[in-house]
Amino acid sequence: MDHFIYRNGVLHAEDVALPDIAAAVGTPFYVYSEATFRRHFVLFDEALAGMDHMICFAMKANGNLAILKLMNNLGAGIDVVSGGEYAKARAAGVPGERIVFSGVGKTRAEISQTLQGGIRQFNVESEPELRRLSEIAMGLGLRAPVALRINPDVDARTHAKISTGKSENKFGIPISKARKVYAEAASLPGIEVIGVDLHIGSQLTDLAPFETAFEKIAALALALRDDGHNIRRLDLGGGLGIPYTHTNSAPPLPLEYGAVVRRTLGHLGCEIEIEPGRLIAGNAGLLVSSVIYMKEGEGRNFLIVDAAMNDLVRPAMYEAHHDIVPVLEPYPATPYAPIDIVGPVCETGDTFATQREMPPLGADELVAFRSAGAYGAVMSSEYNMRPLIPEVLVSQDQFAVIRPRPSFDEMINRDKVPEWL
Ligand SMILES: *Cc1c(COP(=O)(O)O)cnc(C)c1O
Repeated sequence: MDHFIYRNGVLHAEDVALPDIAAAVGTPFYVYSEATFRRHFVLFDEALAGMDHMICFAMKANGNLAILKLMNNLGAGIDVVSGGEYAKARAAGVPGERIVFSGVGKTRAEISQTLQGGIRQFNVESEPELRRLSEIAMGLGLRAPVALRINPDVDARTHAKISTGKSENKFGIPISKARKVYAEAASLPGIEVIGVDLHIGSQLTDLAPFETAFEKIAALALALRDDGHNIRRLDLGGGLGIPYTHTNSAPPLPLEYGAVVRRTLGHLGCEIEIEPGRLIAGNAGLLVSSVIYMKEGEGRNFLIVDAAMNDLVRPAMYEAHHDIVPVLEPYPATPYAPIDIVGPVCETGDTFATQREMPPLGADELVAFRSAGAYGAVMSSEYNMRPLIPEVLVSQDQFAVIRPRPSFDEMINRDKVPEWL
C-alpha cells in the first residue's frame, strides 16, 4: 500500500497534488512519500516482533541523504556496499554500530575506512577477503566483526540479473565449503566470527526459495555451533519483491515472510538481521514526467515523454514493468488505446513500455511511473547531457526538494580541460 492516490481527479502524493510539485520544480522529477517509507519499515518491524532483530535498509535502493535520515530516525540500520555509501550513511547521522558492510569486492581503502569509522559487521564473501580483513584489522589493533556470506545454492526464481544465490553466481561462499572457511576465520587474529549472512536475490515473489535457504542456514548454524563457533546473529539479506502492477497477483507480505523466518530460524535464539531495499523504497516513489508529444507512426503510435532511460533504467536494463498513469484521472468512459511510451534518448532501448493501453494524452500532460522509489534515482546518469532529475520528499501537506536539478553550467564545469588544449 502507498500514499499515491487520486483526489478529486488529481494524483496526489499524500496531501500534495503532483501538478503543484511539477509547477515548482519542473519535470521530470522523483517524488517520495515519507508516510509510505515509514509504513514499509514498520511492516517489517512488526513481522519480526518478538524476535531480537535489526532492519538494515539497503541504501543502494535509495541513497538520498534525507531518506537515510528518515531511516535513521526510525532506528533502522543501513546496509552499505561501498566506502561512498558508508560515508553517506555516516553523514546522515547513522552510527557505525548500525552499519553493515556487504559486497563481493571490498578494497583495502574501504576496509580501513570502515574499521576506523566503526562498523556493526562485515559480510565477508571469500577467503582472500577474510585474510585481507584480518590483516588490516590487526594493523589497526582491532578485530573485525564478521558474518560469512553463504551461497546456499537456491534458485530465487527471479530475473537473471538480480539472482544471487545459485552456485554459479559470483556471490558468497559455497555452503559446501562453509565449515572449512569458518574454521579458517576463527583462526585469524583480526577476525571475530559473529554470525552467518545470506542474500539470495532481489524481487522474489515467492517465499519458497527463502524457506529453503533459511532451512539450510539453520542446519549450518547448528553445525557451526558444534564446531565451537559462537553464532549469535543471522543476516538474511533483502530480496522480498513488490507488486509492480496493480493487476497481477501480489507478492508475499512482510508478515508472511516474518512467519517463515520464525518457523525456520526462531529456535536458534539468534539476533535476526534483514537488509530490505526494494520493499521499503520501491512503492514509496514515483517518477513524474511530461508528455513532449504524441507521434503517429506506421501501425503504432509513440508517446514521447521528457523522462528517459538515463533517469529510470530499469525497463531498459531488466525489462522491468512500471505502471504508467495519467496524473489527471481519466473520465470513466475514456477510450484507452495501445501506445509505445518512449524517452528522447537516441537508443531503441529507451522504451518504457510497448503497446501499453493508455488514455489519449496531449503535449504537457503529466504521467506518473509507479514503483520508482527503488533502483530509480540511484541508477540514473547524465547520459545525453541530461541533468540528474530532482528528488522531492512529501510529508503530509508539505514537500521539499531533497536533491535539486543541476544547472547546465554546474554540469559543464565539472569537466576540466587540460592547459595544453
Ligand atoms: C541488493 C541487496 C540487498 C537489497 O535487496 P532488495 O531486493 O532491494 O531488498 C540486500 N542485501 C544485499 C547484500 C544486496 O546486495
